[in-house]
Amino acid sequence: MSYYRKKFNLNVIQHRSRLRRFLTKLEQHPPKTLDLIAEVVDKEVWAETNCLACSNCCRNMTPTFNFQDLKRISAHFGMTISAFKAQWLYKNRRGEWMNVNQPCQFLDRKTNMCTIYAIRPKDCADFPHLTKKKMVDYIHVHKQNVQYCPATFKMVEKLIERVGKL
Ligand code: SF4
Ligand code: SF4
Repeated sequence: MSYYRKKFNLNVIQHRSRLRRFLTKLEQHPPKTLDLIAEVVDKEVWAETNCLACSNCCRNMTPTFNFQDLKRISAHFGMTISAFKAQWLYKNRRGEWMNVNQPCQFLDRKTNMCTIYAIRPKDCADFPHLTKKKMVDYIHVHKQNVQYCPATFKMVEKLIERVGKL
């Protein structure tokens, strides 16, 4: 495991509960300006984050493949949607198509790059959903992601600095 990911994992063990407690309170008492604050924080987070040193999302989580994703990516490989699903995906209890493999089969583990970057699932392109509106409706997502995603972790730390104790 890379030094970056090891260091992040130690940080998670140390701070996860504190960050999740803050998110619970934020969900219950969101400030009126939360979406505006999130936009500013988002820019700061990405100026300080290098996804190519990380790839935790591609290693530890699965995207959801919507129909457009399935059409686009299976066509790229010259496969039918059914063959693509049979080779790599399973349907979860909510009827969503997810990766069987973790890390994702499309991750180049040496470079941390996505080998289908230009046509990756929308869920991957949108991850980690930091500026989704209204932010308060995505706090349950951030509570999960804070464990895997350094960008989400940083965002929550910055929100604590700005919003303070709730
Ligand atoms: S499709 Fe690409 S971006 Fe999405 S999980 Fe796989 S490797 Fe990561
Ligand atoms: S989105 Fe988050 S988990 Fe994924 S590579 Fe970037 S920092 Fe890591």
